[in-house]
Amino acid sequence: TTFLHRLNHTEPKIKSFLYISDVVLKEAEEIDRKIAANEEVGPLVGVLIGVKDNICTCDMPSTAGSKILENYKPPFDATVVGNVKECGGIVVGKTNMDEFGMGSTTEGSAYQVTANPWDLSRVPGGSSGGSAAAVSARQCMVSLGSDTGGSVRQPASFCGVVGLKPTYGRVSRYGLMAYASSLDVIGCFGSSVADAGILLHAISGHDKFDATSSKREVPDFASQFVASDHLDSKPLKGLRVGLIRETIEDGVDLEVISSIRGAASHLEELGCTVTEVSLPSFSLGLPAYYILASSESSSNLSRYDGVRYGKQVVADELNSLYGESRAGGFGSEVKMRILMGTYGLSAGYYDAYYKRAQQVRTLVRESFRAALDENDILISPAAPSAAYKIGEKKNDPLSMYAGDIMTVNVNLAGLPALVLPCGFVDNKSVALPVGIQMIGAAFEEEKLLKVGHIFE
Ligand code: GLN
Repeated sequence: TTFLHRLNHTEPKIKSFLYISDVVLKEAEEIDRKIAANEEVGPLVGVLIGVKDNICTCDMPSTAGSKILENYKPPFDATVVGNVKECGGIVVGKTNMDEFGMGSTTEGSAYQVTANPWDLSRVPGGSSGGSAAAVSARQCMVSLGSDTGGSVRQPASFCGVVGLKPTYGRVSRYGLMAYASSLDVIGCFGSSVADAGILLHAISGHDKFDATSSKREVPDFASQFVASDHLDSKPLKGLRVGLIRETIEDGVDLEVISSIRGAASHLEELGCTVTEVSLPSFSLGLPAYYILASSESSSNLSRYDGVRYGKQVVADELNSLYGESRAGGFGSEVKMRILMGTYGLSAGYYDAYYKRAQQVRTLVRESFRAALDENDILISPAAPSAAYKIGEKKNDPLSMYAGDIMTVNVNLAGLPALVLPCGFVDNKSVALPVGIQMIGAAFEEEKLLKVGHIFE
């Protein structure tokens, strides 16, 4: 009830949620009954969870922040939603987001603008801005988001919470509305590394409904959070940390760089050796990402035709039904991405754009592999600056895209990454949080969680 009270009290100002469940108390009572009757309850018993609106829930609308899916209620729960419910979690509602995950501020939602709880005149980041703001304002305990090019990590950084992007394939995407299928991953937000790790454990593992989900065994991510490592004065002794040189150069806010340098010193105090490493293809990742993500989205979003899902307009012939449903249902950013994507894929341009971007993707993957052969983890800022003012990037999409430079490469390589608070940018009246990104080798979430837990 404390959380619900805070949720209702803060929501008019923050607007993290597109939908709030009206059965939370009933579900909590059912859990109390189970506990009283000594029935088995799961590891998320009574945990209040916010779910990004592009993750399907059968008892709540799922719009992906788009008018084209207004009032749409899927006939099934996404696998991750089923997982958290089985573990005793209670879904409190659906969180606001940039339409279909396309954006970095959550201003691209067709419904409302979410405010950053640290400074209400600023954005929470995006596209999972609602999920990040909700945890930051303690409207729920943990939340689920999706990360195609940074949409869990950048809002975690802007809102001063922990954000975890798992390895591609660690978590089932069944029931996640596809943006760019080769990059999309469902991720976790929490107020601590332990919270995010426990949530990750609940949702990880193979799913027969998602052929790209991995059959690898899922380690018990939670077990290390009770370890006594903290008692040791050098608990991370021997751990090799590579600070990515290209992420602390020109164009990055100086206070962000000094927070990351401070975090690197803290890691050294904990016993790590920190050296600078170069990822030569780093800056190529951004244009390659925007070509690949737009191309995949132009294909994925073709399913919204006004017939199968959501709103349908009245039209006298089929082509105008498609055209008018899409013209009225999609917002301008989504339309721009579809146009960019179809252009990049079209005959005559394919070799120059899509194919080259795929080649860059291979380069990026190779350069991460080389750097992670020499290092246990890599570190960088999670974003080149702290949270933007609402409206600041609205008419400047290129500068908004540039803000994704720290995160997109990780998706191109499919690697896991953890973001956690590591400092502040002093903005006269208010301090704004800065997050550090820790990147690991594929399927090494356990190592990231251990380092993050000891670091925080
Ligand atoms: N900001 C990036 C984009 O607009 C990433 C979004 C995401 O990860 N969903 O594509």
